[in-house]
Amino acid sequence: MTATLLVDIGLLATQDAELGEIRDAAIILDGPRISWVGPVASAPPADERVGLGGKTVVPGFVDSHAHLVFVGDRSEEFVARMRGMPYAAGGIRVTVADTRGAPDALLRLNVERLAGELLRAGVTTFECKSGYGLDVATEERSLRVAAEFTPETTFLGAHVVPPDTPRDEYVSLVCSEMLDACAPHARWIDVFCEQGAFDVDESRAVLQAGIARGLGARVHANQLSAGPGVQLAVSLDAASADHCTHLSDADVDALAGSSTVATLLPLAEFSTRSPYPDARRLLDAGVTVALATDCNPGSAYSTSMPLAIALAVREMAMTPAEAVRAATVGGATALRRNDLGVIAPGRGADLIVLDAPSYVHLAYRPGVPLISQVWQGGKRVA
Ligand SMILES: [Zn+2]
Repeated sequence: MTATLLVDIGLLATQDAELGEIRDAAIILDGPRISWVGPVASAPPADERVGLGGKTVVPGFVDSHAHLVFVGDRSEEFVARMRGMPYAAGGIRVTVADTRGAPDALLRLNVERLAGELLRAGVTTFECKSGYGLDVATEERSLRVAAEFTPETTFLGAHVVPPDTPRDEYVSLVCSEMLDACAPHARWIDVFCEQGAFDVDESRAVLQAGIARGLGARVHANQLSAGPGVQLAVSLDAASADHCTHLSDADVDALAGSSTVATLLPLAEFSTRSPYPDARRLLDAGVTVALATDCNPGSAYSTSMPLAIALAVREMAMTPAEAVRAATVGGATALRRNDLGVIAPGRGADLIVLDAPSYVHLAYRPGVPLISQVWQGGKRVA
């Protein structure tokens, strides 16, 4: 295996508690793993040497929440919303109709396109949910296609109740036949616990059925109202409660005392013109926070983790350091992956080179394409 020494790193923000931030740093990539990190002056020799021009290096972003298996778009709904129509869970059904009619090849093309966008935005690992099929066959093939691109696949049959299906009947279908078909292609199970989607009892039933099949739990929680989703997530030791836009003090306390990550999705608030989650309150309470894109055709059709970081700083009172941390090791923690999100010996060799003197520029220069290189598994891929 070839060892590659990366040198001339002006600032390396490792996200590792001990290594911290290193100026004039170097990294050795040994195949798909990092084998050494430190000041360039003490770097050991390697097979090849690549200079990074004094730029900033951070870990590859870990996007722990994305909905990429669909076809069609909802730009008309977006235009209407920007003219004052409120966002509601029901818009999902439009995408369901398009997705059910699409062959695998079209679904694959869409995931491939968005995975490419994510990579160019610095995302080296992403989670991908089903949830636009809402029937056994389409949910199963959605996950089969997603698994071609990422090991972090999530069964979201409980995204919304499909039209013309009684609720009880649909919830039992999700927990039985649909779960049986989807579980072999999924690592996680998720539910949209919200008014207009699934109530707490339905959500619990779905998550428990998935957990019984060996899937890890994640929950769309407290996005549109201060509902029971966060408490449910914590009670089931879900890896993540996602959105967390409307929280009670009890919700914040529950998250702080748990290993459930609060995954914040500011691109959704941006694209639905909604109030942002209070990241400061969560961080001050000691909650682990992740930032993710929520890329989906309805409420947040963006793959830009840098924009999510900029919004987290501008609108949610996170410091740039906290926002980058949430987008890297925070996302890895939300996926219960301790091999990602940190630049340290033994971790995956996934990193981003920023054309900037500091990662602060991700927030300070919003919308500017600062990602000049992406390395994944020890190889330059963008
Ligand atoms: Zn979502």
